[in-house]
Amino acid sequence: MIEVVDITRTYRIGESSVNALNGVSLKIEQGEFVAIMGASGSGKSSLMHILGMLDVPDTGSYRLMGREVGGMGEDELAALRNNIAGFVFQQFHLLPRMSTIENVMLPCIYSGEAGDFQGQARQCLEMVGLGHRAGHRPNQMSGGEQQRVAIARALVREPMIIFADEPTGNLDTRNSHEIMRILTELHAQGKTIIMVTHEPEIAEYAGRVITMKDGKVFDDRTRSKATEPRGDTARNFGMERLPVFQPGRMLGFVTQAFSSIAANKVRTLLSVLGILVGVASVIAMMALGSGAKSSMEEQLKSMGSNLLSVRGGSARIGHAAQGAGSFTRFTEKDAEAIAGLGPIIRSVSGDVAGPAQMVAMDRNWNSNVEGVDYDYGRMRASVPTIGRWFTRQEILGREKVAILGTTVVPKLFGDANPVGSIVKINRINFRVIGVAPPKGFAGPRDQDDVAIIPVTTAMYRVLGKEYLDGIFVEVSSAENIEQAKAAIDALVRKRHKIQPNDDDSFNIRDMTQFQQMLSATTQTMSMLLGSIAAISLVVGGIGIMNIMLVSVTERTREIGLRKAIGARKADIMLQFLIESVGMTLSGGIIGVIVGVGVSMILSTFAGWAVKTSLFSVLLATTVSVLIGLFFGLWPAQKAAGLKPVEALRYE
Ligand code: ADP
Ligand code: MG
Repeated sequence: MIEVVDITRTYRIGESSVNALNGVSLKIEQGEFVAIMGASGSGKSSLMHILGMLDVPDTGSYRLMGREVGGMGEDELAALRNNIAGFVFQQFHLLPRMSTIENVMLPCIYSGEAGDFQGQARQCLEMVGLGHRAGHRPNQMSGGEQQRVAIARALVREPMIIFADEPTGNLDTRNSHEIMRILTELHAQGKTIIMVTHEPEIAEYAGRVITMKDGKVFDDRTRSKATEPRGDTARNFGMERLPVFQPGRMLGFVTQAFSSIAANKVRTLLSVLGILVGVASVIAMMALGSGAKSSMEEQLKSMGSNLLSVRGGSARIGHAAQGAGSFTRFTEKDAEAIAGLGPIIRSVSGDVAGPAQMVAMDRNWNSNVEGVDYDYGRMRASVPTIGRWFTRQEILGREKVAILGTTVVPKLFGDANPVGSIVKINRINFRVIGVAPPKGFAGPRDQDDVAIIPVTTAMYRVLGKEYLDGIFVEVSSAENIEQAKAAIDALVRKRHKIQPNDDDSFNIRDMTQFQQMLSATTQTMSMLLGSIAAISLVVGGIGIMNIMLVSVTERTREIGLRKAIGARKADIMLQFLIESVGMTLSGGIIGVIVGVGVSMILSTFAGWAVKTSLFSVLLATTVSVLIGLFFGLWPAQKAAGLKPVEALRYE
């Protein structure tokens, strides 16, 4: 069944090289029980690894059941190991995080076959007398018991050949003989057994003893014949390509990944911290962004729509303040002329403002006064909900009536309703007729810290101005804004005799400019938060990569074992990718919770407008999965590329 001809194997360590096998030729028939003996370093394990398809010879040929093994690819060898070989190692190589029965089942996961793995595993455990310990962890068992579990694992795929490398090397005499009794029994059932040992007492059990010396066969004696092969000898030789993505197998990988994550809770938490912060800031950023946007829209509504503001001075900031250039002074006549421009102008209001000291009863408040015309209330959504707006007569008659902003009211009247009361504005008695609806802040300016009075009263009685500070114009519809701007520009130039090449001594702004300004600000904010998020996600990804590399190194022997029992490259890749995605996804989910929490705290305690969206949650989750995939790829590749023999030898 097994035939090797003149095989050699040389290991290289830096400059030096070791000839572990120097031309070994031998034949092993089906049903034989072979012990390979020899001094330490004589090449026993090297030979067994090659026979067990864990390693390939440098030269020479290896025929297994008539097929040349030498030319096979890694995945083919993995399938062969899974289908026809069972391994028992000196160090047992049981996975500590799994129960006994899960350890025994492990080769079945890589078979890709469907079946009652639990039942098969339980049967094998019973065969080695450990049926009652299926749920125990390996570390709760004695060495002898652990080796029996390892034998059960070697049997679960019903292999034709069992390879055992010093199976009793770590056991006391009594347990050694128990293990040998089991192997003898398996041999009696028709299994081929190839066992490495250096104890003559153990070699006694075998029917044939091959002794190695310096990488060569030194002696080969057969004491008893091979047992008659039983059962389906050619079974399982097929190396069907089974898909890696198989529901049952995937589920197995996912549970394994999460048990490994759960086994390192603190480490996992620390390494996903970057992802967590990144995802949390993505969520908070998007919540803040959309909250700011909708509150901005609200604010714009309160400003009024299709609104133009005509003011003296250049639009260039600081120009007028520096005293350079001329400055057009508008009067009520200008406002009337603009109103007369025709149907594209819906309404017009002059505007004048200044500081004001207000006194009511014994309270005192430094605030602002704004004089406006009749249409201002509707244009700028300032018509009181408590009390009323001015009448046209009150404005014409320069009457002393005032509408107070919501910031002013509590300063002067406390909780009392001010409507009907008297307030002194710059020592003049005004009657309060209403409270203006709140507008909030425009930048640093509190738009509610104001007393609104008729424009005439403001100019001639309170502020002593002959001129308007500006004129608000409401255009009939949004499409007419540009046309209205041009018409107003022409009109003002004509009325004030401004030459086309003169410095701008006035400006017309429409409120969409404010909107652009505001959205530019929020965009900057979002970009800032976005780059914090991006940086922490990248840093977090590198953290994940680092911890995955550590994990690969730590679990080198586990990877070796998995490969020995038939895991393909893709299986190992998948296992580690699932693990890294599992980590980043858990980090992402915690990040989502933290992000939503932070947004909620900001809105409750700081009064910020936030709006968490399902989209941002989905985006953050997707991003964390992608990061797991991207940064897990290299470690997973490293794990998958390990050679089974080297991984098993790793200390
Ligand atoms: P045995 O199992 O008989 O003790 P091995 O087959 O393990 O012997 O080793 C044979 C020789 O090859 C020894 O000298 C050993 O140090 C060397 N060797 C085995 N594996 C490696 C390896 N991966 N790298 C370098 N040298 C190795
Ligand atoms: Mg050895």
